[in-house]
Amino acid sequence: MHEMSIAQGIIDLCLEHAGGRRVTSLDVEIGELSSVVPEAIEFCFEACSRETLLEGARLNIIRVSGTGQCRECGRETPLTELYGSCGHCGSHRVAIVAGEELRVREIEVDD
Ligand SMILES: [Zn+2]
Repeated sequence: MHEMSIAQGIIDLCLEHAGGRRVTSLDVEIGELSSVVPEAIEFCFEACSRETLLEGARLNIIRVSGTGQCRECGRETPLTELYGSCGHCGSHRVAIVAGEELRVREIEVDD
């Protein structure tokens, strides 16, 4: 399962940064254009974090909306899908500038 390995990756990263301390909460950014389903991450996180220093940690998922920059008219346009078109001129030559994120933004540890 895709989300299972992502959740495991998030946990590994947090453990590395926590340096043996208990993690109480973490903020994870998930872009709306990524194929990751937040609910699945929550579920997998809970399962994978059991009996680790992340057990019981609060997982805050921050959704990052999709934004593209049009290569035709040069303006920024909101994107709701990966290959969306420019909302200003209708061009499909849109470069994605936000919305593909999948990263741990912040963790809180117990001192
Ligand atoms: Zn455009």
